[in-house]
Amino acid sequence: MALEVCPFCGGTEFVEASSVPITDLTVSRYPFRSQKLFHQVCISCGSVVRAYVKQPEMWTKDWAKEQRTKEWNRLTGKES
Ligand SMILES: [Zn+2]
Repeated sequence: MALEVCPFCGGTEFVEASSVPITDLTVSRYPFRSQKLFHQVCISCGSVVRAYVKQPEMWTKDWAKEQRTKEWNRLTGKES
């Protein structure tokens, strides 16, 4: 769950931000599965209160297998 109150100023308004150029985050275990790093920024004090990726499941062991299954189902017209 995302933070609802800024721990630094008590602010409650946040925006999602990313760096330009966009920073890619990689794990050493899966060097070719990089993904964008996003930040949650407090609008009142500017603190970056959270950094996150949107598909953490990409770094699990079975992810590649699931992708192949999905692709196969798509090509063969099956629903996954
Ligand atoms: Zn704040």
